Amino acid sequence: MSDVRNVIIIGSGPAGYTAAVYAARAELRPLVFEGSITAGGALMNTTEVENFPGFPDGIMGPDLMDNMRKQAERFGAELVPEDVTSVNLSAPVKEVTAGGETFRAHTVIVATGSGYRELGVPGEKELSGRGTSWCATCDGFFFRDQDIAVVGGGDTAMEEALFLTRFARSVTVIHRRDELRASRIMAERAFANEKISFLWNTEVVKVLGEERVSGLKVVNNQTQESSTLDVTGVFVAIGHDPRVDLFRDQLELDDEGYLKVDHPSTRTSVAGVFAAGDVVDHQYRQAITAAGTGCAAALDAERYLADIG
Ligand code: FAD
Repeated sequence: MSDVRNVIIIGSGPAGYTAAVYAARAELRPLVFEGSITAGGALMNTTEVENFPGFPDGIMGPDLMDNMRKQAERFGAELVPEDVTSVNLSAPVKEVTAGGETFRAHTVIVATGSGYRELGVPGEKELSGRGTSWCATCDGFFFRDQDIAVVGGGDTAMEEALFLTRFARSVTVIHRRDELRASRIMAERAFANEKISFLWNTEVVKVLGEERVSGLKVVNNQTQESSTLDVTGVFVAIGHDPRVDLFRDQLELDDEGYLKVDHPSTRTSVAGVFAAGDVVDHQYRQAITAAGTGCAAALDAERYLADIG
């Protein structure tokens, strides 16, 4: 079947492009569906990335992704700015539909990432990267000696709050209920940290600021009283949703709804289908770890292709 490709990659974040670089250099001529609106992935929405190795002065997120894209293209990856709309992964030859056309391949690498949940309040998106953040590991460093807030009540929110105390002068955790959802150990650690204070039964209704975040308008959902919290940063930690809708009925998911792989490989529950990056990972969620598993997925696909001859 001459029209059956070696590899189709779904996604163009650090995982997808890295898989593309490796697969292209292995002469597998990968076809990459980049997505129509979000080509380049999550880092297209950020400013400076300071923790991707190889850039001692940092690099802007969109520039980093443009570099990765060019690198994949240089070795012959075929890049298509379309969304995949359906897949059929069960047979040895997989089918992937995008732009109304169906493409076939022996292997598929899924690298569709995950989306962070938003508060959905005015100012939040407008000030993204300028005081609003979804990643303490990525951005905590920029908030040295500042007063900041973390929104959420789960383990991730507590982890973010505790991590941020390394830099910030104070961290206010804003939670819409009167108790945390976080595990006891995480909650106790947060309660014991003198830099962390809690605003219970409280919701953010607006992120304030022109050029940068200057405060939050919050309301107590019991008394309906509103007030302003003077902070220069807000970390939204209310959860992530892995992009698994296309695969839900065909690939196994783990308990948290992420694609399940046979660690440390990137093999999914279906032979010939591999997964990498944030669609698998609810633990690290970094560009470099996504790139690392993207590399692993390409190598796993290459070995699978060699095995099936
Ligand atoms: P993503 O980058 O999310 O890419 C997913 C890709 O899948 C996108 O290209 C999308 O178009 C595509 N896609 C989805 N559905 C489809 C479909 N149906 N068809 C085709 N394509 C599809 N990490 C760091 O290491 N350092 C930082 O400083 C940093 N800053 C961050 C700042 C922000 C604001 C955010 C949100 C994240 C930040 N991160 C940072 C985390 C980092 O961006 C992610 O861990 C990384 O991008 C995950 O890579 P990925 O390839 O798995 O997924």
